[in-house]
Amino acid sequence: AKQLGRNNYQFFTPELDAQAHRRISLESKLRRGIEQGELELHFQPVVSSGSGKIHGAEALVRWRHEGELIAPGEFIPLAEESGLILPLGEWVLRTAAGRARAWQDAGYRLGLSINLSSRQFTDQELVKLYLAVLADTGLEPGRLYFEITESLLMKEIDRAQHILGALRDIGGKFYLDDFGTGYSSLAYLKRLPLDGLKIDRSFIRDIESDADSRAIVEAIVSLAQTLHLAIVAEGVETTEQLGFLQGMGPMLIQGYLASPPVPAERFDALLRQGDSL
Ligand code: C2E
Ligand code: CA
Ligand code: CA
Ligand code: CA
Repeated sequence: AKQLGRNNYQFFTPELDAQAHRRISLESKLRRGIEQGELELHFQPVVSSGSGKIHGAEALVRWRHEGELIAPGEFIPLAEESGLILPLGEWVLRTAAGRARAWQDAGYRLGLSINLSSRQFTDQELVKLYLAVLADTGLEPGRLYFEITESLLMKEIDRAQHILGALRDIGGKFYLDDFGTGYSSLAYLKRLPLDGLKIDRSFIRDIESDADSRAIVEAIVSLAQTLHLAIVAEGVETTEQLGFLQGMGPMLIQGYLASPPVPAERFDALLRQGDSL
């Protein structure tokens, strides 16, 4: 980067050239990885703050490449830039729906969340894809939750409202993810057909040490209660944090305290075991 601006031919410096090559080669590896089944979904339990019982899960994608398990932070941005997020997102949706169907067959009534990127969200095909996935899996509508972020909504609120409405008409549910970190325009809460808010981990992390974080969490919880929205507290790691949250009223908890994201078989073992806190 220090070479930027040195001359007008900055794009052709060896350094940037190498960087571009790495990116392109990672991109083609990811493309092949998607085709060859290198993606995995892990599932993180979402539990009730009072009983500790498993209420649902969030599906989180991983890439198993050359013996390594790569976290989404390392390839989702690349997938978004390159457009690979569309096949990746379709794989996530189909695979998640398949799991949710298996739980349905086993008699569990769980909600399963998947994360949506803005590229998928503006894709005209999303509504059709969701319908096709429901038809193909026989999954009861209303089991899948789409996690969306404020930055995603901000881009085009009218369009967002339209697509959410169409998905909701066929049973789609929505959580506003990372709540509190974006612009948090309260207009979203009014205009969008949301089912719940996920309070960002940064507020939960500081809940013991910082009175402001605590006040913000309390305010979000009471707002959600008034609007009849579910609350999921993200990133709950300690029993002290859980204690503070339990004092604020019933909610859902997600975090390492209950369980990290785990492979499907491990999640099923947790389900059979009953509770997770
Ligand atoms: P996110 O949606 O906010 O997901 C929660 C992240 O917090 C996950 O990281 C999870 O492993 C982590 N986490 C959960 N509990 C705790 C905790 O107690 N402490 C800490 N420190 N972390 C915790 P992960 O799996 O690495 O995912 C990172 C991000 O990648 C996600 O953030 C989401 O934005 C994105 N992502 C993951 N899977 C998908 C996907 O299938 N599609 C899309 N578009 N994005 C995805
Ligand atoms: Ca999420
Ligand atoms: Ca989140
Ligand atoms: Ca996040």
